[in-house]
Amino acid sequence: MPRPIYATVSRSALAHNLATVRQHLASAPGEAAGGAGGAGGVGGVGGVAGGAAGSEALRADASGAFHPSSPSSRFGEAAPAATTASAPASAPPRIWAVIKANAYGHGIERAMAGFSNADGLAMLDLAEAVRCREAGWVGPILLLEGVFEPADLDIVGRYHLTIAVTTDEHLDMIEHARFARPVDVFLKLNSGMNRLGFVPADYRDAFQRLSGFAQRGKIATVGHMTHFSTADGPDGISEQLGVFRSVTHGLRGPISLCNSAASLRYPEVAADWVRPGIALYGSTPFDDRSAESYGLKPAMALRSALIGTQDVPAGGSVGYGAAFRAPSPMRIGVVACGYADGYPRHAGTGTPVVVGGVRTRLVGRVSMDMLAVDLTPVPGAHVGTPVTLWGAEGLSVDEVAHAAGTIGYELLCAVAPRVAVRSEA
Ligand SMILES: *Cc1c(COP(=O)(O)O)cnc(C)c1O
Repeated sequence: MPRPIYATVSRSALAHNLATVRQHLASAPGEAAGGAGGAGGVGGVGGVAGGAAGSEALRADASGAFHPSSPSSRFGEAAPAATTASAPASAPPRIWAVIKANAYGHGIERAMAGFSNADGLAMLDLAEAVRCREAGWVGPILLLEGVFEPADLDIVGRYHLTIAVTTDEHLDMIEHARFARPVDVFLKLNSGMNRLGFVPADYRDAFQRLSGFAQRGKIATVGHMTHFSTADGPDGISEQLGVFRSVTHGLRGPISLCNSAASLRYPEVAADWVRPGIALYGSTPFDDRSAESYGLKPAMALRSALIGTQDVPAGGSVGYGAAFRAPSPMRIGVVACGYADGYPRHAGTGTPVVVGGVRTRLVGRVSMDMLAVDLTPVPGAHVGTPVTLWGAEGLSVDEVAHAAGTIGYELLCAVAPRVAVRSEA
């Protein structure tokens, strides 16, 4: 028998979360993302430079002189209503399901199945994008960091991938590339995060170069994207949104702004495409609001079992460094799960763990292959008693992450290859 640790990934939870985010976006107060008079749904954010009028200009121009066919219409789906001038006023934003990092640890193929209703998939790795095409995904695929060398553009062309354009090097590579048919791109604005993208002063020149490539038939659509650094915090998005608005004012093309935090907190700015990741896996992007409160369900559960118990006398220590000492005689359970499985080593005494359906606490330091739990509230526990580390029985990955001083994202991505993953309906 293998070690009893395993993860489960629920396809229905992934699908449920996608539908929940979609519904949340659709029910944004007043101006749900779209349409001619919809103002791109920005009015809801107070004090934003540019305001609704600027957004309306963006929206009205969104028909785009140079996208004879949208990415999806080329794949035989309906044209994206939100990017055409004739869009109905209620055109909902489209969703790129972000599946980078092996779908936040859930597995690309599983995520593809769970997100079959997504409008597109977004990721980083060319090889993962090719895997999605080969597994049958015909809709748009966005490479969030663009390409890394000129040869990548051959694959972009061959597999109809949409790329972020973030540097002058990207523009040079496109200039020298040959495509069998025009490629769709999203030009990325560095609106304040100072990670990827063109600074405001250079953005319009980059757009002009892309427009030139479009006229030469290399590029179909040029969209506009930026990424918010504080959508989850008190600073919000208004400053970056204001920069985005003024820099892109009057330029044609579809717009993509929102990660999970912005999609959940500012659904009224969703525009043409949103890019949620973490929310789709049922974990929260916020410190102060749970995924459950948005109706999201954990897609991954990490489970194991007790492989030993110890009766520790008062004053006895548990684990490396004797970091925990029993204040009185207590029974300890040893769980087959350690940091080499992806459990965070910085989770200290008190981190919640569910043993035999009962919530208890981790004690002492997490070892490479094991961790110890307090069996005081579970007197009947024995070798073989099931243990939930996160993602089921009311224990969220976010609670465990918080106890370890990190975020749910890191825990989900870090589940180790040695942990078997079972797909669930
Ligand atoms: C990772 C990523 C996202 C998704 O972020 P979440 O916080 O997981 O929703 C969106 N856009 C870009 C550019 C990203 O890199």
